[in-house]
Amino acid sequence: MKKGIVIKTTGSWHSVKSGDEKFQCRLKGTFRTKDVKNTNPIAVGDHVKFEVTEKGNGIITEILERKNYIIRKATNLSKEAQILASNIDQAALMFTLDFPETPLEFVDRFLVASEAYHIPAVLMINKTDLYTGDKLTRMEEVKDMYGFAGYPVITMSVTNGQNIEKVRQILKGKLTLIAGNSGIGKSSLINLLCPGLNLKTTDISWYHEAGKHTTTYPEMIEIDSNTYVIDSPGIRGFGLTDLKKNEIGLYFTEVFRLSKNCQFYNCTHIHEPNCAVIRAYENGVLHESRYRSYFNIFSDTDQKYRTG
Ligand code: GDP
Ligand code: ZN
Repeated sequence: MKKGIVIKTTGSWHSVKSGDEKFQCRLKGTFRTKDVKNTNPIAVGDHVKFEVTEKGNGIITEILERKNYIIRKATNLSKEAQILASNIDQAALMFTLDFPETPLEFVDRFLVASEAYHIPAVLMINKTDLYTGDKLTRMEEVKDMYGFAGYPVITMSVTNGQNIEKVRQILKGKLTLIAGNSGIGKSSLINLLCPGLNLKTTDISWYHEAGKHTTTYPEMIEIDSNTYVIDSPGIRGFGLTDLKKNEIGLYFTEVFRLSKNCQFYNCTHIHEPNCAVIRAYENGVLHESRYRSYFNIFSDTDQKYRTG
């Protein structure tokens, strides 16, 4: 019996890394997951036990308990879900303030999702080499805003190498999901960290014409023997499903912090008197764009949220 980590799945075959060895494994029988009806019982990041066959392949006999996992539902209303990845140590959202500009509400939705999934989030603002004047001022504002919310923020450039060492340190020894819209530099970063891999990068002009990436299964990319990233064209942000209204305020970390001083314990921070969150917003302590995102997510009429 061996133990290993699933680093890639393609249909019924799963690549499992055990020490320095890799095995192609199949599942023994069927597995069920407690909380989701899922179409794929196994995902990258899963810790498994397996037996080696005479041919040198493996039969997975047990999937160890997952500390977390992210899913994608077929549609908003679907009960069927696909587990995309599990046992993620952190989720890094890469975004840009220009070329192209990432809407900050997209960042905020991603952060809400990462809180809901209990996955620590890190923000990476890429393409600093292109920012001048107002954009640089804006970058400092955005950095302060997310710092106030409690997130590490790295400003970086794949092109001129700014803060790439910081990025390496933050990834070191962890399994990191790298998320972000197309064209912001994820593949370029991974190629820089992992020379020889040669992920295809997107020519932005092409991207705008041709539309979306095709969806594929996520794959773990090894940066060193205990550092991995998952880059999935299929995960732009990650899906927020079945989020209840009263949870939203918990997942905006600074709103949650401020809400301890609201008069009403069940304050929604939308219309109540003596609301500490609204007061902080009016005083400029809570950043306007964060409050707007909170408001928009809260007001979402079908109460279902998907970022991906
Ligand atoms: P992905 O879709 O997120 O994987 O983005 P890519 O890595 O394919 O990058 C999209 C485009 O942005 C490519 O043309 C890259 O060369 C370019 N790019 C990536 N990082 C930077 C950066 O730090 N500065 C500049 N100026 N361009 C970058
Ligand atoms: Zn309030």
